[in-house]
Amino acid sequence: MLLPPIHGRLSIAGEWSPPRDDFESLSPADTAQVVGRFPQATPEEVSAAVAAARQAYPAWRRTSRILRAECFDRLAQLIKRDQEAIAELMARECGKNITECRAEVIEGLHMVQYVFGVGRQGIYGDVVASEIAEKDSFVRRKPWGVVAVITPWNFPFAVPLWMLGPSLLEGNTAVFKPSEDTPAVGQKLVELFHEAGFPPGTINLVHGDGTVGELLVKDPRVQVVLFTGSYEVGRRIQELSAPLPDRIVAAEMGGKNAVIVCLDARFDLAVNAGILSAFKTTGQRCVSASRILVHEKLLDHYAEAFVSTARRLRFGDPLDEKNFAGPVIHRAALEKIERYNAQVRNTPGVEVLLDGGPVSPAQTPGCYMTPFIYRTPWRSDLPALREEVFGPHVALIPFRDDEEAVRIHNDVEYGLSLAVISEDYRRIRYFREECEYGMGYVNLPCIGAEVHLPFGGVKRSGNGHPSAAGLIEVVTHKTAWTVNHG
Ligand code: NAD
Repeated sequence: MLLPPIHGRLSIAGEWSPPRDDFESLSPADTAQVVGRFPQATPEEVSAAVAAARQAYPAWRRTSRILRAECFDRLAQLIKRDQEAIAELMARECGKNITECRAEVIEGLHMVQYVFGVGRQGIYGDVVASEIAEKDSFVRRKPWGVVAVITPWNFPFAVPLWMLGPSLLEGNTAVFKPSEDTPAVGQKLVELFHEAGFPPGTINLVHGDGTVGELLVKDPRVQVVLFTGSYEVGRRIQELSAPLPDRIVAAEMGGKNAVIVCLDARFDLAVNAGILSAFKTTGQRCVSASRILVHEKLLDHYAEAFVSTARRLRFGDPLDEKNFAGPVIHRAALEKIERYNAQVRNTPGVEVLLDGGPVSPAQTPGCYMTPFIYRTPWRSDLPALREEVFGPHVALIPFRDDEEAVRIHNDVEYGLSLAVISEDYRRIRYFREECEYGMGYVNLPCIGAEVHLPFGGVKRSGNGHPSAAGLIEVVTHKTAWTVNHG
């Protein structure tokens, strides 16, 4: 069903700006469908949003932690009320299958509930003993101030909540810039925050592309930048922030994730885990696997089963829950993925097992692609094996023994998620200790997240773990006082 386009607005100091049509959000399932028209924030508007957050900060930080938490309780109720509408909007705007969108709304809800629970405990510091028996100290958690939250399109509801939730609970105020590819979901989220009673200025919304993000990052009144997105952009944000001595940047970035299928693996489980890791969300999760390392004695059999399963996957309308996955986010992404496919096709010594790629525009108005699967010995000179492709593109790579699997695994500059498929505890433990990654899975796909567990990686995958469990970047500590009871 065709819905009227959403009117995009900025939200500054609790006020919604008049709508403006500077850019469009198009549905990747049918690029003729306009999901909404949005204003690109001007430098003056970005500055006003930061000023509003700065102004709201003193009162918000002085608000009781328990009252701040109560706002999250109300937010949770509103998310439950609107969960199906949010999921449908997300499916239309970013092309993920509706079942995944529903799961993402639930993940966002879990984060809000978790933040409420942590906040309701009311604990905001520790009493710490001293070497001298009569002395103890109170170490207090303190908010930083204004937090900029800059997020990607692929988890447009849950990822902002992973960052906004802990930030606001701890007494920071925020300026949120959602991805220019999913502004409608971002705007819906801010509407819910307002309705839940977060005071004006505690959360401000600016729309626009990377230039708007960059204006935010360059503003010295922003104390913390919480970023999730690609390595290239994260690196740029870190560089721009370097001259600011007390700027905190938490960057959650891309991956070049792997599934390691050992000789003792349960075969069907290994195929299933590989398929879900590579193709769920059309390969567009930060934790998606684009490398499946298979013991050399298993590879022929594995490749046959993997390819025949991949052939049967249905990529189609995101609102039809019978489809396995939807399109890729836009034509530029499709073209980028296809460039990696072409590079692999043209590389001698590489065997293409399933020659997928873009579905022709004559057949679909959307950005659909089918799986591209190839088999190759490990080679570190092929960019497709080292860079994040972010699409339905996967390599099957043989290994001889566990040591070689570790070497191949670690021979990339990312380290986000890893799945090991094996029945042997000692082997699993070896991979756990030797492989460089942030989130490990055993006998499971390497995708998935739970809000009470740290989520993040190492190397180019990032320096932050902005989970509710972590709450690290959004607070500082001060030894508020030391008392002598003697
Ligand atoms: P992206 O890096 O292109 O954009 C992310 C955000 O940064 C957007 O809001 C964008 O407008 C903004 N931006 C772009 N240039 C900027 C600049 N110079 N200064 C400030 N902001 C700027 O990423 P994307 O295509 O939206 O999302 C996909 C990427 O996100 C993938 O690399 C994926 O792996 C990663 N990701 C990581 C995680 C994680 O937790 N590690 C989770 C989801 C997605």
